Amino acid sequence: MNTTGIGYDVHRFVEGRPLVLGGIEIAHDRGLDGHSDADVLSHAIADAILGAAGERDIGHFFPNTDESIRGISSLDILRHIRENLAAKGVAIINIDATLVAEEPKIAPHLDRMKEALSTALALTPDRIGIKATTNEGMGFIGRGEGIGALAVASVERP
Ligand code: MG
Repeated sequence: MNTTGIGYDVHRFVEGRPLVLGGIEIAHDRGLDGHSDADVLSHAIADAILGAAGERDIGHFFPNTDESIRGISSLDILRHIRENLAAKGVAIINIDATLVAEEPKIAPHLDRMKEALSTALALTPDRIGIKATTNEGMGFIGRGEGIGALAVASVERP
């Protein structure tokens, strides 16, 4: 059967960390805080895929209390999830995601993000949607305190 899932994540900006979004590093004066590389887009996508597969969330499989995965690449998280689901006969059909960020500009990086995600998810880039919007200056995202991401995924499962 085909099922869909939803994912949401948010991470706070901090000084002194690289900004990783959609599996690529983007030049910026601040990065996102987190136990992993804090790739908020990949995390939302991971939860969407896990949700579509009827599994528990990313924090269950990759807890921020696990020192062995400190600094883990979120592309590796996506790859692990894809492989573990494939072993259960679950195949990802497509994902679609929206980044909510006041800065930096996302559009110049979309193609590279799609490429990185398509490799990790073993999907052709035309099955990956990434959109970006601002929060129109409102709220914590509008004040530039962090970045949010939403995603949906559909999978084919036994
Ligand atoms: Mg996260």
